[in-house]
Amino acid sequence: MDFIPLSDWGLTPTPPEAGRPFLISGPCSAETRQQVLQTCTQIAGLGVQLLRAGIWKPRTRPGSFEGLGQIALPWLVEAGAQTGLPTCCEVATPDHVHAALEAGVDALWIGARTTVNPFAVQAIADALVGQDVPVFIKNPVNPDLKLWIGGIERIHQAGIRRLAAIHRGFSVYNAPKYRNQPQWEIPIELKRRFPQLPVLNDPSHIAGKRALLYEIAQHALDLHFDGLMIESHITPEEAWSDAAQQVTPQGLADLLDQLVLRELDSDNTAYLNSIQVLRTLIDQLDTQTLALLGQRMDAVRQIGWQKKERNIAVLQIERWLHVRKTALAKADATQLSTEFVEDLIYVILKESISQQTTIMRQYPAE
Ligand code: PEP
Ligand code: MN
Repeated sequence: MDFIPLSDWGLTPTPPEAGRPFLISGPCSAETRQQVLQTCTQIAGLGVQLLRAGIWKPRTRPGSFEGLGQIALPWLVEAGAQTGLPTCCEVATPDHVHAALEAGVDALWIGARTTVNPFAVQAIADALVGQDVPVFIKNPVNPDLKLWIGGIERIHQAGIRRLAAIHRGFSVYNAPKYRNQPQWEIPIELKRRFPQLPVLNDPSHIAGKRALLYEIAQHALDLHFDGLMIESHITPEEAWSDAAQQVTPQGLADLLDQLVLRELDSDNTAYLNSIQVLRTLIDQLDTQTLALLGQRMDAVRQIGWQKKERNIAVLQIERWLHVRKTALAKADATQLSTEFVEDLIYVILKESISQQTTIMRQYPAE
């Protein structure tokens, strides 16, 4: 799939200032004309690239505020005109797409509760054919990378090339710390599979609380995400949706001042020389590690032949527990995390069992 880089979308009058991320901000929901206009005008000078406001809100349970719908669209468009910034809103049906585009909204996003449903995403994709509008696709609520990619493919097939993903975390029962679990490995894998696809992070819906926004947003910048979507509200405590996670315009300014944007590269010679030396060392160590693992598997195969000869079972739980325990005891001294050592020993032992099982199936023993 081909994608247009965010910097070439031609949406925003000026690119983000040096050291500042591409930023989408605005209220979770459009509540009143005044709330939308005040929030948007106050955040406009903070390096915001794109204004957001929820017009239709897919809420988990009925009875929560479900958005004002179409009547709120002109307020968002008016906020765009007043600030000179482009605007975006969530769409979940073809009707939303038509209404938003007719009202003059500049970009659209597909929410997490919509990305889970291929019928809904396809209906939106069909409504987008022939429309050259930028579209952001949030991850589905469940940690299913294929479903996220499927959504991206459907919109791409509709001809949309100004296309980006938004990582907003994954829901779990009884969420421990964050409202939605970041499971960073999923957006990282998405970036590995589609290096050209812009991937933004939405710390608001991951954190669920203002106080946790910074750590999530900074983590995303450390991983070189392409931008952030952060909810802001003129009076967050009184917000009709997501009150605990929205920040005031001042809160947004303070957060942005704290954040450090990371570059992909540097032209500093001392840095370049130093990492070159270290990377050469790492490459050599990787080669040695693989050679050692190869030797280990050779010993494993020899044991395999002996087990076969004497009709001894491949799997010996006592031995497995011993290898695991011995390795875990070395975790601290080698500065490796327990989880890593555990995972590593697991894959090594899995391979050992697979090699010995193959030998059991071979005949005759050499
Ligand atoms: C939102 O951005 O307001 C929203 C509802 O997001 P999500 O789809 O990530 O829950
Ligand atoms: Mn929200």
